[in-house]
Amino acid sequence: MINCKIKVLIFLVIAAMLGTLLASCSPKAEKQADMEEVVLGTFGSMRVFATSTKKGEAAMEKAFQRIKDIENKMSTSIEESFIHQINEKAGKEAVEVDDDTLFVIKEALSYEDVTNGAFNIGIGSLIDLWGIGKEWQKIPTSEEIQEALKHMDIDQLEIKDHHIYLKDANMMLDLGGIAKGYAVDEAAKTLRESGIESGFVNMGGDIYALGTKEDGSPWMIGIQNPEIGSNGVMAKLPLSNQSIVSSGDYERYFIEDNVHYHHILDPETGYPTDNRLSSVTVVSEKAIDGDVLSTAVFVMGLEKGLLFLEELEDIEGVIITKDKQVFATSGVKDKLEIIDNNYKLVK
Ligand code: ADP
Ligand code: MG
Repeated sequence: MINCKIKVLIFLVIAAMLGTLLASCSPKAEKQADMEEVVLGTFGSMRVFATSTKKGEAAMEKAFQRIKDIENKMSTSIEESFIHQINEKAGKEAVEVDDDTLFVIKEALSYEDVTNGAFNIGIGSLIDLWGIGKEWQKIPTSEEIQEALKHMDIDQLEIKDHHIYLKDANMMLDLGGIAKGYAVDEAAKTLRESGIESGFVNMGGDIYALGTKEDGSPWMIGIQNPEIGSNGVMAKLPLSNQSIVSSGDYERYFIEDNVHYHHILDPETGYPTDNRLSSVTVVSEKAIDGDVLSTAVFVMGLEKGLLFLEELEDIEGVIITKDKQVFATSGVKDKLEIIDNNYKLVK
């Protein structure tokens, strides 16, 4: 009997020693690796922590490849893309799309409903007309705008299995307000599949914070100062396994006769959204939701937008006005750390 107890004890001691030895041998995911690339019309960057720099870099290469793959399917300017083909064949025939494109279009359609039309991927003709950020950017005539507004009815988009058809020959889709968010989610997923548990994906302000810091505390992610010409950060938020996406009038715009024309268009008026806002930031589990909602809330304006964000479950947001007032939903108000004293949180 005693003999047996001693045997068990010796076994336990050896097992404990082996465990410690193994733990000290297995490499820690603490090597930092960084990668940058221009993709999806923006500057993309990633940082990961892996057991070796090589592994980290291989994971990021795969993630960037996934982003390019999504760009090739959803960009309006790439001729082979599904979206380009759908627009080309509007009023003529349906185009068969893949799972990614179908998923993003379906998400966009349900958000058109949820946002009461503030977010509408049927806005393509209007986006093309303004051409903001493109060589042909110009202020259209009001007749041209009225004409484009007639071709944004999302009910003209027909889905049958994987076939997408625009019944209105003058209608065009534009996934500029949703594809980047989806790409960020898929990049984070690709990193996870490569065994990465900690890092960031940043596609021009659409950010995913993966895991935590080494000590288990959340990442502190900055919100860009939306003032035109500023590149600094005005506030920080602790985030872990969450995305943070901002939309603002500082991203793509042109100025003519002292008027600032930017790339977020109001589907009701046909003009760039003109309200007191300078940026909207959305915190959510998925960047696709944040991408859509930041754009939609920018269109809705302060009062409507803040109420709308507050009512959505698992979604938080920060709205910044032109006069540097900061409004935050109840879930992030106490976590937001304002570091630029020109900005004031409205309690
Ligand atoms: P960014 O691409 O700079 O991150 P957003 O995420 O706010 O900016 O998306 C803006 C893009 O979304 C525009 O460039 C255009 O392609 C598209 N867009 C603009 N207004 C709307 C709208 N009301 N609904 C849907 N998409 C829009
Ligand atoms: Mg957006």
